Amino acid sequence: MFTPPLARLIEQLQKLPGIGAKSAQRLAFHILKRSEKDAETLAQAIIDAKRQIGFCQRCYHLSAEPICEICSNPNREQDVICVVEDSKDVIALEKTREYHGLYHVLGGVISPMDGITPEQLNIQTLIQRVGEGNIKEVIMAISPNIEGETTTLYVGKLLKPFTKVTRIAFGLPMGGDLEYADEVTLARALEGRREVS
Ligand code: ZN
Repeated sequence: MFTPPLARLIEQLQKLPGIGAKSAQRLAFHILKRSEKDAETLAQAIIDAKRQIGFCQRCYHLSAEPICEICSNPNREQDVICVVEDSKDVIALEKTREYHGLYHVLGGVISPMDGITPEQLNIQTLIQRVGEGNIKEVIMAISPNIEGETTTLYVGKLLKPFTKVTRIAFGLPMGGDLEYADEVTLARALEGRREVS
């Protein structure tokens, strides 16, 4: 149906999340309509992002520097760590402008069904960070589904000997995803946090 280079472009676009066959086709036609320079800029942006962005060595948030902007900002509260599943959640919490502490990105949640064990997540490094002392609170901000619950309880148990561990209060629906919560809901969830029992 499509000339091979166009078919390849559509095929690649369709691999992106949320992009079905129709959207992929629409995007491909749009790219073809734009100038060659525009296409190169897009392709280069993808390559640059992939090559230059890694993980912050301290909190595992996406960063182009060894230590991310949040970790290296002296104005952030240095004694509070908010634990999230993914970098997307850091962005969501930053948008609320209600949180001024540090983060720790686990890189996933414990999920025996998917073969994800605690060892595959950034949990050991979190224990180390907290174990070094000077952390007065760890806030667990993991999406409220079964895997998220398991992860919150598991990590909470490990951290309790060292510091106060709280969890954000979900006005979010069970099974709801942190990244899809609006800023007001998320800010309220943060405000209403309570200790992990
Ligand atoms: Zn960092």
